[in-house]
Amino acid sequence: MNAFEETNYYFRKAARIMDVGTPIETLLATPLREVKVQVSIEMDSGEIRTFPGYRIQHDNSRGPMKGGLRFHPRLDQAECVSLASLMTWKTAVANLPYGGAKGGITCDPSQLSLKELERLTRKYVDQVQDVIGPTRDIPAPDVNTNPQVMAWIMDQYSRFHGHSPAVVTGKPLELYGSKGREAATGRGLLYICREILRDVHLPMKGARFAIQGFGNVGSHVARLLWEDGATVVAVADVLGGVKNPQGLDIPSLFEHVQRTGTVTGYSSGQPCSNEEVLATDCEVLIPAALGHVLTRENANAVRARLIIEGANGPTTPEADDLLEKRGILVVPDILASIGGVTVSYFEWVQNLQHMAWEEERVNAELERTIKEAYERVAQIARSRKVPLRTAAFILAIGRVGKATVMRGI
Ligand code: NAD
Repeated sequence: MNAFEETNYYFRKAARIMDVGTPIETLLATPLREVKVQVSIEMDSGEIRTFPGYRIQHDNSRGPMKGGLRFHPRLDQAECVSLASLMTWKTAVANLPYGGAKGGITCDPSQLSLKELERLTRKYVDQVQDVIGPTRDIPAPDVNTNPQVMAWIMDQYSRFHGHSPAVVTGKPLELYGSKGREAATGRGLLYICREILRDVHLPMKGARFAIQGFGNVGSHVARLLWEDGATVVAVADVLGGVKNPQGLDIPSLFEHVQRTGTVTGYSSGQPCSNEEVLATDCEVLIPAALGHVLTRENANAVRARLIIEGANGPTTPEADDLLEKRGILVVPDILASIGGVTVSYFEWVQNLQHMAWEEERVNAELERTIKEAYERVAQIARSRKVPLRTAAFILAIGRVGKATVMRGI
């Protein structure tokens, strides 16, 4: 299965339980618009290079479309379609007035200079500026994109359309960003962890976590869990992992990462591989890197009691079935990682109102949104006797389906 087929597998499983019927099922599964562009730039060397870029707009029945921009060498159209549809379900689970989109550029940013990255970002905006916008489609950071990239997007889009801070979220604080946005996905994961651990009667204090990915999502959730009394026993990034069964000292690991750019080589732990991190003996595993990391091949090696999906699409359907059979509870991406898009929504609201909220307000509203979403999903899971992933899709499909039909097809 490719990435899109995987997302659709989960979607169809829920849609069939709901008996929405084939025509509506097809309508909801199919993206509204798929934009593919060529992004050609002059490299610092004078050479001309062309990179493929995408913006997939999946659904807008509940509001403007929303979703991240990813810069990655293995990004392709199928991956963007899958991620765009996940955004539709995610914004619906969070009950935000948005649809879903996703996009990016197939490139390896580690091989580009800052100036090349800026030229690439601006050229991409030139190519998609007529299909994005504050009331159409609002990009945000994803893998290998950050507040600086968002600032270039805002600036380039504003050259065409006038001052438009609300065209993109995840911007720097100096340029209409929101307090609390940078840590929001990690903070949302923390709030979800608190809810689920309470439900399975596991105290946070002393609970052991393994985290794959130490970027925006992974590093913030590691810090927040550690501050909440949890024990982080293993982490990994693209270069490898580090583990310590007694618990890693997260503040000193942060200093190491700031100095070296990677978790590898951290001296107060033992080196380990990415696969070992996924198979760590712990209470909770948080995949927070890329998709498709938990597969048929390694699902039986997982030793965690719970998996809380920080990344988008980390679990393949085959792995999901194996984990369910083994009684491992999976909190799906479309519920667990709604923190980022939720605070992106708050940023957009602040931009439209020309206001700035204090961080306490952002975090309090985030916590309220997460608790409400978790409660609704958990209640559907209990009443229909289905896994949390199916329950989250049932909630989302119900909301998107009703909006679609009420607007008129
Ligand atoms: P990031 O670029 O900040 O960090 C990615 C991390 O994953 C890095 O530590 C990188 O080294 C690691 N990584 C990359 N390839 C890897 C590999 N093959 N094996 C192990 N580790 C690898 O990205 P991010 O924003 O933290 O996003 C991580 C995941 O979370 C993605 O799936 C993204 O779609 C999802 N997500 C992000 C947000 C957000 O607000 N940034 C919101 C929701 C979901």
